[in-house]
Amino acid sequence: MHIDARNLENNSVIQGDICIIGAGTAGISMALDWIDTPYKVILLEGGGFEYDDQVQNLYDGETTGQRYYPLKSTRLHYFGGTTGHWAGMCSPFDPIDFIKRDWVPNSGWPISRKDLDPFYARAHEKLQLGPYNYEFTYWKKELPNLIPFSLDEKVIWNKMWQYSVARFGKLYGDTITKAKNIHLYTYANVVDIITNGTITDIKEVVVKNHAGKTHKVRAKHFILACGAIQNARLLLASNSQAAQGLGNDNDIVGRYFMEHIEHASAELWLSKPFPTKLYSWSYGARASAELAITEKVQTENRILNGTVSLYPLAFSRNLDSEMDVWNNEDPRKSAENFRESISEAREAAKKVNEGSISRAFQLHTRIEQAPNPNSRVTIGAEKDDLGVPKTRLNWELTRLDKRSIRKIYQLLGQQMGISGLGRVRLREFLRDENDNSWPEDLNAGWHHMGTTRMSDNPKRGVVTSNCQVHGISNLYVAGSGCYATSGAPNPTLTLVALSLRLSDYVKDKM
Ligand SMILES: Cc1cc2nc3c(=O)[nH]c(=O)nc-3n(C[C@H](O)[C@H](O)[C@H](O)COP(=O)(O)OP(=O)(O)OC[C@H]3O[C@@H](n4cnc5c(N)ncnc54)[C@H](O)[C@@H]3O)c2cc1C
Repeated sequence: MHIDARNLENNSVIQGDICIIGAGTAGISMALDWIDTPYKVILLEGGGFEYDDQVQNLYDGETTGQRYYPLKSTRLHYFGGTTGHWAGMCSPFDPIDFIKRDWVPNSGWPISRKDLDPFYARAHEKLQLGPYNYEFTYWKKELPNLIPFSLDEKVIWNKMWQYSVARFGKLYGDTITKAKNIHLYTYANVVDIITNGTITDIKEVVVKNHAGKTHKVRAKHFILACGAIQNARLLLASNSQAAQGLGNDNDIVGRYFMEHIEHASAELWLSKPFPTKLYSWSYGARASAELAITEKVQTENRILNGTVSLYPLAFSRNLDSEMDVWNNEDPRKSAENFRESISEAREAAKKVNEGSISRAFQLHTRIEQAPNPNSRVTIGAEKDDLGVPKTRLNWELTRLDKRSIRKIYQLLGQQMGISGLGRVRLREFLRDENDNSWPEDLNAGWHHMGTTRMSDNPKRGVVTSNCQVHGISNLYVAGSGCYATSGAPNPTLTLVALSLRLSDYVKDKM
């Protein structure tokens, strides 16, 4: 069932059993899981079914620290959320990503990869991926033309990826609006979360839109699924009863913001031509791999988890950095600039004289960011059109991040040399071991994580291992804000898995 909240009588009171705030990747994944249950689900979406600049403006904010994309351009504010322009790259986190590593401050989740495995399998269905199987041996049989480098498996392994083409808005719009027990309200922006007197239960949320309407939504359970930055912002902005914001008694909400550093970091010069299709992403591919460092070698070298992919140098040296290209406040224009820069680099590559360059590749890093309390989301004094304080993001990296990238390439270089496959040449910014600065155009993956981190200890995290906000019995967070560490893979598969796990937990409580 679909209701446009702009057409409701002002000051309406909406009631249901559970209220999911945000109909993006996490919110829709959860809502689908509740179809045909005996419960009335209220699904609140700030935007409509199409892009709307007035609503998108609500994502406007300020950034400091390491240069970042314009905040308004990094998420899509309408039904279906940011799957509207995501790239669909999926791979699960590794077992090491969940454990406490003594060389990674603030690492360690209260759950393990095994706990998530059944939910990863269910997330595969929602994202319309292939089988939940990331073993290279499986994919080698499926796609025999994918040839691996012959490297020491004790040091380097092939981490597999699958690709989703799911755009949740288009894919699930009909299913959600036709479901009898799912009540989708569009143009229903949550602007405030109201608790009982003791701040242990949520009583209602306040919804507003640009038509000047205000409504209240009451439910037994509330799930925040607005994206990692926005969820933190809403908790911080709901400060009429708790001065520091909700769930923020220990000043953790918004802290530990993490991204994935995704940057051209080195070159690989092969001694002779090699079919590198396995290591290159291409449209329409079912699977590909990235070169990854084994858990044992990560531990020995006390580095973060990261992977490496290959792009032909003739193409990638003509490619502008994403941080320079994705620079328009309007996400559609940024995406267009991005596509144009890829086409231009492809054209430039065609003009390159073949020869040794066809054996040369750009090595592209994808690495987790070490959790850092100073890398954080706060709210400023300026407010958006609906009266919610705007986001301020301070993105801050650490020495461990840089040392890990450098070490990954040193290890890869050694292995390439030993096997006689070729040579690795570090990019300038990695050569001086004492230089901890970062290039101005350092690229990030548009992945927002860690702002409502998970820990069983309320002094160290915002949500419990079940994604419930500490101290508030009926408020939960769905999404990558709950990550304690960010893993190397892109976040969406894991956040869908975590949302489905949360869905089961709330069902049990009901
Ligand atoms: C260019 C780009 C490429 C990407 N590629 C990949 C990739 O290849 N692989 C990958 O794993 N990830 C990728 N991502 C990241 C991926 O898009 C996000 O991880 C994912 O969409 C986050 O899901 P979410 O549900 O938390 O947020 P969203 O999908 O952004 O959904 C949030 C929803 O909440 C709604 N909302 C926000 N505020 C409110 C409010 N106050 N009240 C009501 N509703 C509200 C929004 O309108 C939206 O519908 C990419 C992102 C970008 C920008």
